Amino acid sequence: MRSVQELLQQLHEIAANPRARTEQYLTEGKKIVLTAPVYTPEEIIHSMGLVPMGAWGGDMQLNESKRYFPAFICSIAQSIVELGIAGAYRGASAIVIPTLCDSLKVLVENFKYGVPAIPVVPMSWPQNRVPDFGKAFTKAGCERVIRDLENITGAKYSDGALRASIKVYNAHNAAMRRLSAVLRAHPEVGAAARSDCFKSAFFMLKEEHTALIAELCDALEAQGAGEAKTTPIYISGILADSPAFNALLDEAGLSIAGDDIAAQSRQYRTDAPEDSASPLDALAEKFANMNHCSVLYDPSKSRCAFIAEEAKAAGAKGVLLVLTKFCDPEEFDNPLIRRACEAAGLPVTIIEIDRQMVNYEQARTAIETFRDMLA
Ligand code: SF4
Repeated sequence: MRSVQELLQQLHEIAANPRARTEQYLTEGKKIVLTAPVYTPEEIIHSMGLVPMGAWGGDMQLNESKRYFPAFICSIAQSIVELGIAGAYRGASAIVIPTLCDSLKVLVENFKYGVPAIPVVPMSWPQNRVPDFGKAFTKAGCERVIRDLENITGAKYSDGALRASIKVYNAHNAAMRRLSAVLRAHPEVGAAARSDCFKSAFFMLKEEHTALIAELCDALEAQGAGEAKTTPIYISGILADSPAFNALLDEAGLSIAGDDIAAQSRQYRTDAPEDSASPLDALAEKFANMNHCSVLYDPSKSRCAFIAEEAKAAGAKGVLLVLTKFCDPEEFDNPLIRRACEAAGLPVTIIEIDRQMVNYEQARTAIETFRDMLA
């Protein structure tokens, strides 16, 4: 069995260098399909023998993308176009972009013009996803993705292959849920390494990532519970992969007991049922069953109580809301989340982050003050 350190180092290298993984898959003769946030139906891409590769942008200075976006569009959407223009996605056969927020709708059009070499496949999810007409809409959206990918890549779709891929993705969801629980008992792993465990999932075939995460969980469990003297917190937001941000948490002695981060645990909560009438019905059911997310329609905002309950259950002493700058869906929810958490006796701090951020001193002050509040 490999050591925890060896496994974390491998996950770090994959998370830090997606280009190396892309080149590896291209050399093996595989075709890459980029998957933009959030909830891209990766199972379809995987079932067609294509490699889904996460495209959530990167921490960088935005220059060229400013010709396409107004300044108030989130830096995730902008940096996807910036990276595309810079050639970071060269070799990709297509990009699938869901249209669950206004920034992503704008991204669909701007990517077409900014990065004409990579065809765009939009995925239109319905907001009313639960009624039968909503599920029919989801199915039609998936069928459009299949049609476009067949035309662009020449790959073929089959129900049998999609059923098999759904099993692969459900197994990966389970592995990631286990990981979250195992890491809770091992605060010594730290926020930066925890982020690598989640981020690396975007750049590997899910069956490969499942095996690696299972090996890591086994190794951590074999070495017994961790002993780091940290203060456990719960984090919520869209993204929390910035090395500078995670270093601040580690330096402040804050460990992540659980998360509602869209790029981390939020995407792994819901499985597609494996006994649906057809695999496309299973994907429609999966989307209908998803909840507690800022980009999913929920007039009752049950997400706020859910976060407070999850944080309590995880043993968190407080909740850190990691707000991606200019993310309207999250901005609307944050005051309600704060109210629900404070009513549950959990202190809350909001910090705003941005993919263009170079100076984290304001965030450092906020995080250190938060740590002192929880002591
Ligand atoms: S961060 Fe917010 S605004 Fe940006 S793509 Fe995600 S949900 Fe949309």
